[in-house]
Amino acid sequence: MKKGLRAGIILVLILLMTLPVSCSLISRDGGRETPGPTGPGPSLEPSPEPSLDPTPEPAKGTTTVKLRAVGDIIMHMSQVYAGEREDGYDFKPFFEDIKPYLEGADLVIGNLETTISNDERGYHGYPNFKSPEETLEAAKYAGFNILTTANNHSFDAKEFGVVNTIEKLEEYGIKFTGTARSQEERDRILIVEENDIRVGILAYTYGTNGMEVTIPQEKRGYMVNLIDKDLIEADVKRAREEGAEVIVVAMHWGDEYQRQPNSTQKDLADFLVSLGVDIVLGCHPHVLQPIEIRRAQLEDGSEKDVFIIYSLGNFVSNQDWQYSDSGVVIELDIIKDYDQDIIYLDNFGYTPTWVYKFSKGSGYDYRILPVGSFMDGDLNEQAKKRIKEVWNETTSHLGQEDLIIFE
Ligand SMILES: [Zn+2]
Repeated sequence: MKKGLRAGIILVLILLMTLPVSCSLISRDGGRETPGPTGPGPSLEPSPEPSLDPTPEPAKGTTTVKLRAVGDIIMHMSQVYAGEREDGYDFKPFFEDIKPYLEGADLVIGNLETTISNDERGYHGYPNFKSPEETLEAAKYAGFNILTTANNHSFDAKEFGVVNTIEKLEEYGIKFTGTARSQEERDRILIVEENDIRVGILAYTYGTNGMEVTIPQEKRGYMVNLIDKDLIEADVKRAREEGAEVIVVAMHWGDEYQRQPNSTQKDLADFLVSLGVDIVLGCHPHVLQPIEIRRAQLEDGSEKDVFIIYSLGNFVSNQDWQYSDSGVVIELDIIKDYDQDIIYLDNFGYTPTWVYKFSKGSGYDYRILPVGSFMDGDLNEQAKKRIKEVWNETTSHLGQEDLIIFE
């Protein structure tokens, strides 16, 4: 698909012969080497003759935003106990091994599927998640700079939970989208500018587990973003009006433990593509669901790639059974080409992840592992067997065509 785009660009170059031949159109702007089907194909050869035009416009090249995204960050009570220390909590060890796969990217996005509580109000796991604020300290340490907060657990600690979670996110310097303390705050679109590219990020959930009844009626409308086509359409439009050049939408949707999207997810994905959304990050099923790189037609007749993952799986949780114990770190580049005046997505890939849960003291401890580089790692026998299965399950389910798989 991307080859089609590149071939189109090259064709334009050949036809116009006004611009100097710019390798930046096809180079992987600082990215890792990408062998396989995503590498420059034979369609790019032979290079056109250099233009002899004496006054070519100086090429300005490209700029890139590197995006990483993961699924649900869930905090069951056994994880809270694992992080318990004499003077508080420390969850940073959960993230230590996966941190190198997150940090260094410009946008690192995850779904915070819990609320932030405090010692006084106490902590809780399923079904009403209330976690220590050190959860955010650990997320920050791992490299997250954006957390989505619209999910079925947004109201687990009622109105206090919404407000306190946002206050703590602000305190730790993590941007958020999906919940709000006021109508004004809800209407403020999160637009993050990195490397001269403005990315709008929106988040919606199918519902809030009935906990909405604990929220005063007049506040329900803004405290969490529910999936509503009219609302999404208006937000996407406004994001663009406010300067977003690329739009990411996080959708909390689908059926739990189903490895394929349902018809509602597919319908909503079509709808998001029709709105011109560029990246769709699905969460909630607690298992991985497929990736699609879709070719979308724009109003002006040109085309672009849209990246959709129906479910990113669990990034961390105590759901230690098959499929729910694994997830991915999605990687992709958002590239702005100044010469062509286009923005496009490229270098799609993922790192399979697995939550290694092991006994420690009277309880458990947890490490999110990059699967590929730990298959021969220092793990117990049972874990060694499982991590190899996870590699096979994940790569066969998400596929390899047009995707780089990182170890
Ligand atoms: Zn959920």
